[in-house]
Amino acid sequence: MHELSVVEKILAVVLAHAVKHRVKRVLAIHLEVGELSDLEDRWLQHYFDHVSKGSRAEKARLVIVRMPARLQCGACGHDFSFATAAEQANACPRCSSTDCRLIAGQGYFIKHLEAL
Ligand SMILES: [Zn+2]
Repeated sequence: MHELSVVEKILAVVLAHAVKHRVKRVLAIHLEVGELSDLEDRWLQHYFDHVSKGSRAEKARLVIVRMPARLQCGACGHDFSFATAAEQANACPRCSSTDCRLIAGQGYFIKHLEAL
């Protein structure tokens, strides 16, 4: 599963942070996950519980916030929501250019940690 490699990376970052800041226990990890990402919350927590066993982050709760997808127009620089893009057949609502790229809504990142 795709989620397994993701949680391994998250755990590595979290543990490096925990060591650096002399954290005893990580209680919760706040993540932002793009709405277009195929990561599923329940699998993330499931795999995280598995890979974090015996570490300082064992039993940490993943708090996942879905981030809305946004596009930016390559022609005029306008940025707009993915929902707007879908209505406009992926063209810029300002100048109608179809040279638009996704600037948010894919992938994930660690927002902050709750720790002791
Ligand atoms: Zn435009």
